[in-house]
Parts: sequence; C-alpha cells; structure tokens
Amino acid sequence: MRWRLLRPLRTFSGLVLICLTLAGCSRGLVVDDTTLTARGQDSRVQYVILHYTSSDSARARNTLTLGEVSSHYLIDANPPTIYRLVDESRRAWHAGDSSWQGRTWLNASSIGIEIVHPGYRDTSQGRHWQPWDQAQIDRLIPLLQDILQRHGLSPERVIGHSDIAPQRKLDPGPLFPWQQLAEAGVAIWPDAARVAHYQHLLAGQTPPLAWFEMVLERFGYSLAARPGQTDATRNVIAAFQMRFRPARHDGLPDAQTAAILAALVPDSFAEISRFTGLAEPAIDLP
Ligand SMILES: [Zn+2]
Repeated sequence: MRWRLLRPLRTFSGLVLICLTLAGCSRGLVVDDTTLTARGQDSRVQYVILHYTSSDSARARNTLTLGEVSSHYLIDANPPTIYRLVDESRRAWHAGDSSWQGRTWLNASSIGIEIVHPGYRDTSQGRHWQPWDQAQIDRLIPLLQDILQRHGLSPERVIGHSDIAPQRKLDPGPLFPWQQLAEAGVAIWPDAARVAHYQHLLAGQTPPLAWFEMVLERFGYSLAARPGQTDATRNVIAAFQMRFRPARHDGLPDAQTAAILAALVPDSFAEISRFTGLAEPAIDLP
C-alpha cells in the first residue's frame, strides 16, 4: 500500500530533476536540447545612446516611467542615482527616428541612457548651455564600462542622440564631457597630433562641402533630410562640432572641423584631392 503511494511520487520527482537538468523547463515542450551553442553570435546591443532629459528629476522619472518614451537607465541628480527602468534584453523607446552607420530606428539595437540635466536656457542674450554635474559623470563612466564589457562593444559605439538624429535633436549638447569619457575608455576622441598635422596641411583652407558630406557619412551620420528641411548637411556638421569641436558649433564647415574629421576617419584626408581637382594628392599620415 505504501509503495503504491510512493512510486508515483518518485516518478514525479524524477521528472522534475530531468526538467531542471535540461535548462529552461518552462520551454521544455518547445525546445528539446540547449546543450549545443553556436559560435556565430553577438549581442543584439550595438550602440549606447546618451541623452539629457531637459527636465528636473521628478518630471524625468514621471515621463520615462509613465509616458510614451523610456530609457534603459536614468541617471538622477542630487544625489546621483542610477535607475534601471527597462531590462537590457528589451527595447526602450528613446531613439525614435534615427540612423547611424547605415542602421536605422536604433531602439532595437541600442541601450539608452538618460541623464537628468536641463539642457539649455534661451535668453535675450542667447542660448545658455547648462554645465554638467561631475558626480553624475562619475556614475555614468563605470555604467558604460560595464555595458561595453558585457556586450563586447568598442568605445566608438557610445554616441549621442544628436549623432543619430541630427535633424531634430541636440542632446547631450556641446558641454558634454566626451573627452573625459574617451580618457576613461568609453568614447572616442581624435588624436591631437593628427588633428594638428592635418590643420598644418590644410593651412586654413576649407575642403569642399562634398568632402565633408562623404566623410561624415562614412563616420556614421545620415545626411538624409526630413521632409521640409533643407539644412541637413549643416545640422550634421553642427552635431559633429558639438561633439568634437564644441567651441563653435554653427554647422559651417571650416579647416579645423575638417582636420578633426580627417583625424577620426582613416584615409579620408587624401581624398580631399578628389574634390578639389588638385594635381598633387594631399599627403596623409602613414
Ligand atoms: Zn534624447
């Protein structure tokens, strides 16, 4: 009599054990075996996009948790606090209509980080960009290091919202400390010696706009204008300048912007001659 009761119990516990051994018991009816793993794979996350909230903490928390927009992480201020609002395995709605390196609609392939920051104030004296709180940057850097390491991404994959949507976005703005991030290994910054070298070669001459457009696209920007916009190239140059030459980011091409761009995009400097029709090709660094 006791055996009759115990045997079904033992059979049941045996099944539980088999289930636990074959990982993913809840999916056991669909997948039979997870012991084989393909080498050919990588993370779905290809980019990390940085934003400012252009609002205070309370409004940012409210918007990003209850509204139509969201981000994976929110770095609050006073004291700096990192909230995880969306699991990295899921899509957050932070990028919108966007493009980088030929990929579009980057919500699906990126992690979004919003930083509580007011952005800028427009006054009668002009636009005043607000300074960044170093305490927030000190939290951002290790977060980026962790994300890049876990997803196998290089520092060039950390970009700004204004990079992927230059026709409609300005965040994180010209005061954002990209150079400091680059020094911490979580962003890129052009080599000063290369920039100086190209500036010397250009001798104050601005390459043709067509060269800027070609190289900016090669770097990652999309120059496609939205309907009704005619200043697409100028907006892209301004986005590039905000990131790498923040002292002046009016979107007008000049020799210094060209030198910085050439320092960031390999082999691009020599191609200036293609657009100028010079008999002698411009000399590139080895
Ligand atoms: Zn943004």
